[in-house]
Amino acid sequence: MNSDRTLGFGTNAIHAGQSPDPTTGAIMTPVYMTSTYVQEAPSVNKGYDYSRSHNPTRTALEGNLAALEGANHGLCFASGMAAIHCVLNLLKSGDHVIAGNDLYGGTYRLLQTLYTKFGLKTTFVDMTDQKQLEAAFQSNTKLVMLETPTNPLLRCCDLEAIAGIAKKKGVLTMADNTFATPYLQTPIALGCDIVAHSTTKYLGGHSDVVGGALLSNDRELHEQLMHFQNTCGGTPGPMDAFLVLRGTKTLHVRMDRHCENAMRVAEHLSAHDKVARVIYPGLESHPQHELVKRQMRKGGGMVSVELKASDEQAKQVCSSFEVFSLAESLGGVESLVDHPASMTHASIPAAERRAAGLEDGLIRLSVGVEDGDDLIADLDQAIARSIT
Ligand SMILES: *Cc1c(COP(=O)(O)O)cnc(C)c1O
Repeated sequence: MNSDRTLGFGTNAIHAGQSPDPTTGAIMTPVYMTSTYVQEAPSVNKGYDYSRSHNPTRTALEGNLAALEGANHGLCFASGMAAIHCVLNLLKSGDHVIAGNDLYGGTYRLLQTLYTKFGLKTTFVDMTDQKQLEAAFQSNTKLVMLETPTNPLLRCCDLEAIAGIAKKKGVLTMADNTFATPYLQTPIALGCDIVAHSTTKYLGGHSDVVGGALLSNDRELHEQLMHFQNTCGGTPGPMDAFLVLRGTKTLHVRMDRHCENAMRVAEHLSAHDKVARVIYPGLESHPQHELVKRQMRKGGGMVSVELKASDEQAKQVCSSFEVFSLAESLGGVESLVDHPASMTHASIPAAERRAAGLEDGLIRLSVGVEDGDDLIADLDQAIARSIT
């Protein structure tokens, strides 16, 4: 493009980071299945010397994801956890982290069971309560870690406000943008320093790959993270990078349908007599709906539903679907249902779980891109069969 016009999200999703293969003209970035690269003379190479450090398929994906998040730099990893782990390498023994109190379980585990061993301390706060957040800062606080919307209660926190508070204290903010995707919100534009992703979810989008990414603007920060990426080695193979790169080409199209279906499901279940509560950021009844309207393009593809059901009945509902599949993970084209109390969040003690608002009757839906009518009919039959 010669003009200075900024390209739209969909155009970037399809083209950013990629150009036709110089040797063949192949329009799709090849899967560079190579571990090493032949050098003309010692240290004279084409920018690639070893595939843990760099691989052209991965480079294309890194450029693509950076463009989507409005970031200058991208780094890809073998999983979302490898990406988040890389961020923690910025810290040292004695440092303090402030994290959301309903973070992804794997991130919580990383902070609580692994990094405590190395002298890292974490305070978990309700990120929707800015007073609580401000009170948690200590002289040794180095990082704020948050997610919005959270899992599975889909609580939303104010990215701009939180990044602003952290910046004033000279503290970095990392936002895990897995649930929203850059199509719905871009944390870097709102002041966050690092965006983390599990590309396993919406970015890959087809439930066929595990991956992660970090996006950032600051060159020095990026170089530090890249150094850890190369040192620790949690990088994706070229096939995995290719699959995510293919996935992102349709991200905007898929997200529109995920959001449309999720809204229909949320509205339908809100009026259902066996449903106590529907949690969906796109509904006016959502506690942070005003913020959502400001911060997100649409409500997303995740819907959590508190059924008027016992633990047993909720499990029965989960086993009675014909279109939804009972599985962990989210963000793929196919609709999934999860029973947090016995699956994704089973490791939280029952009393703590209920205190946090995670009732036994809660089910989490990753609403796919199937026909909305079929999803609604499936929900109705599964509930009717299981709750009498
Ligand atoms: C899945 C997930 C992760 C972890 O990603 P993996 O690819 O499974 O390692 C981190 N954060 C969020 C919000 C997730 O949903």
